Amino acid sequence: MASTLDGGRACGSVRYRLEDEPIVVHCCHCRFCQRMSGSAFGLNAMIETERVTLLGRTLPEPVPTPPTHPKGQVWYRCPSCQVSV
Ligand SMILES: [Zn+2]
Ligand SMILES: [Zn+2]
Repeated sequence: MASTLDGGRACGSVRYRLEDEPIVVHCCHCRFCQRMSGSAFGLNAMIETERVTLLGRTLPEPVPTPPTHPKGQVWYRCPSCQVSV
């Protein structure tokens, strides 16, 4: 595996680089992840914030989570297409 991984939204607005491999990657099929992703499951990659570099000029926007979600988590979405980053 490469030491860095580049990625971004399909719309091309938000681009980022993972400076390391994620700590863990998993799919969650709970109702909350289904609602937030608009799909059968949410795909999550956990990595330290300082190991993520934003490459483009467009910054992901923080979006408040529903009150039923555990506190302390912030979701970021692409400001162009509103898809989670
Ligand atoms: Zn879930
Ligand atoms: Zn987008």
